[in-house]
Amino acid sequence: MEKIMRGIDTRLIHAGEPDPPIEGAVAMPIFQSSTFAYRGETSYHALRYIRLNNTPNHVALHRKLAALEGAEAALVLASGMAAVSTTLITVAGADERVMAQECLYGGTHDLMRDEFPRMKIGVDFIDGANAAGWREALTPQTRAIYVETISNPLMQVADLRAAAAFARAHGLISIVDNTFASPINFRPAEHGFDLSIHSGTKYLNGHSDIVAGAIIGRADLIEKINRTASHFGGSLDPHACFLLHRGIKTLGVRMRYQNASALEVAHFLAAHPKIAAVNYPGLPSHPEHQRARELFDGFGGMLSFELRDGLAAADRFIDGVTIPISAPSLGGVESLITRPATTSHSGMPPAERERVGIRDGLIRLSVGLEATGDLIEDFTRSLESC
Ligand SMILES: *Cc1c(COP(=O)(O)O)cnc(C)c1O
Repeated sequence: MEKIMRGIDTRLIHAGEPDPPIEGAVAMPIFQSSTFAYRGETSYHALRYIRLNNTPNHVALHRKLAALEGAEAALVLASGMAAVSTTLITVAGADERVMAQECLYGGTHDLMRDEFPRMKIGVDFIDGANAAGWREALTPQTRAIYVETISNPLMQVADLRAAAAFARAHGLISIVDNTFASPINFRPAEHGFDLSIHSGTKYLNGHSDIVAGAIIGRADLIEKINRTASHFGGSLDPHACFLLHRGIKTLGVRMRYQNASALEVAHFLAAHPKIAAVNYPGLPSHPEHQRARELFDGFGGMLSFELRDGLAAADRFIDGVTIPISAPSLGGVESLITRPATTSHSGMPPAERERVGIRDGLIRLSVGLEATGDLIEDFTRSLESC
C-alpha cells in the first residue's frame, strides 16, 4: 500500500526517500561518487554525474522538495544565488526584460545591477506590495515577474496572488524567492507560481553549516534551468546534499517554533517604551498583516525594529545582548542579529536606503530555537542601557 503523506510533516520525513531503503539504511546514504557506470543511457544529460545534478542524493532531494510545495519538480544548486542567477538567465536573455520587486535581497539586487547590463537583460523595478503600477512596467520584451514572499529587512509582504495572476494574464513566468517563508508557511505552487526559489542555506537546512540553493516548480522550466546549470557548473556536492536533506527533516518543528517565538518577541518589542517601530507580518500594525494572514500558515522567524534613540542606541543594544550572535545570514538554530545599513544593505547609497525606509538604526533579528523567555530577558536587560 502507498504511504499516507497528506501532511507536510510526513512529507518532510518520507517524501522522496528511496523505497525500499538502500541496504536498509534509514538515513539516505551519501553517494560520494562523481560518475556512475553506464546503464544504457543514450543522451549526455541522462548520464549520472554530479555536475548534472542527477546522482542519488540529488534525486532524493528533488523529489522531497517538490513534494513539500506540491510542485512538479525541483532542483538543488550550489547556493541560493546559483538558484537565483541560473533561473533568471534561463527565463530571460539578451534584449529581454524582467519585472522585479524593489528592495530585493542584496545579492539578487547586485546580480541585476552588476551582471545583467553585460548580458543585455533589462530590469523594471516595481512596488511588489502594490499591483497598481505594474501594468506601466510591462513591455513586449518582458519575460518574467520576480518577487519575494517576505522582503528583507522591512518584512514587506508582496501581493503574491496578484503577481501570479499578472504573469498568467500577460504570458510571463512568475518567480518568487520563498526563502523567508519556507514551504511550511507558504507554498507558491498552490497559489499559481511557476517557480519558487530558496536559499537552502537558511531555513531549509537550518543549521548554519552549509550553503545551498533550490528551485521548485514547473517540470518543463526546471529541466531548462538544469540545462543552464550544467553549463555554468554550480552543482551541489553530495555531502552538502546529505546535510541539506538531514536539515529539511526537522523544518516543520523548527519553523513552527520560530513562528511562535518571533511573534512573542515582536509583541514584546512593540510594547516596549524604548522601541519606535517593529516590522513583523504577524503584528496587526503591519501594513500587509491581513494579506499575510490570508496567505501564510505562520509569519516566520524574521523581524526588524528601530529604537527611539536611533543609531547610537541600536549599537548599544547589539553590544548589550548576550544570546543573538552578531552575524549576517538567517534561519539557523541560533538567533542572529545585524544592522542592515552596515551589512546586507551597505552597498546601497544612503539616500536610496532612506527612501526605501532602511534607516541606519534599523536592527534585523533572525529568531533561533533558544527559549523565548531567555531571549526576552536578554533584550529587556540590554534595553535598560539604551
Ligand atoms: C541568503 C538569501 C539568498 C542567497 O542565498 P545564498 O545561499 O547565500 O547564495 C537569496 N535570497 C534570500 C531571500 C536570501 O535570504
